Amino acid sequence: MRRLRKRRWPWLVLLVCAALLPWASWPLRHARLVWSALEYRREPATMTVPVEGVGPKQLASTWHAPRSGGRRHEGADVFAKKGTPVVSAVDGHVWRVGEDRLGGNVVWVLGEGHTLYYYAHLDQFADGLAVGQRVRRGTTLGLVGNTGNARTTPSHLHFGMYRIGWRGIRAVDPVPRLQRLATR
Ligand SMILES: [Zn+2]
Repeated sequence: MRRLRKRRWPWLVLLVCAALLPWASWPLRHARLVWSALEYRREPATMTVPVEGVGPKQLASTWHAPRSGGRRHEGADVFAKKGTPVVSAVDGHVWRVGEDRLGGNVVWVLGEGHTLYYYAHLDQFADGLAVGQRVRRGTTLGLVGNTGNARTTPSHLHFGMYRIGWRGIRAVDPVPRLQRLATR
């Protein structure tokens, strides 16, 4: 009697697909972001401290300092007088302009080093700033303020960097990068 051979491979394919799904789903769900980030795959050769008149030596890292609600600080706070221009740290384009609960008035720039750059607590946006607009290193994005959860603190820019990869977005400490790549 001929032995019936069970075909096992459909299960194998299913298993492999299931294993790959968590890996593949992020870039699929954020295809536009991942695709746009490819334009900026080169690392920046230079950066600018994103608050006018502040040099890299004046920055202090508060990376992962505890914050309310069990959060950790994922960025750099650059203190300056309200109304001081906030400038783009690198070349890129405006990804989002808007308001959020913690950040207040915020600008997201997708730029060099396949990274999203986050500028928060702005008092005002630069005139006519719009999504899709190209910015250069040094282009004014807005003015330092204390909107969002900074309303009880001295005015400052919260500057965040989020690297985009195939597995997702990962926050990185901007201070060592600024101190290495910013000149003034
Ligand atoms: Zn902050």
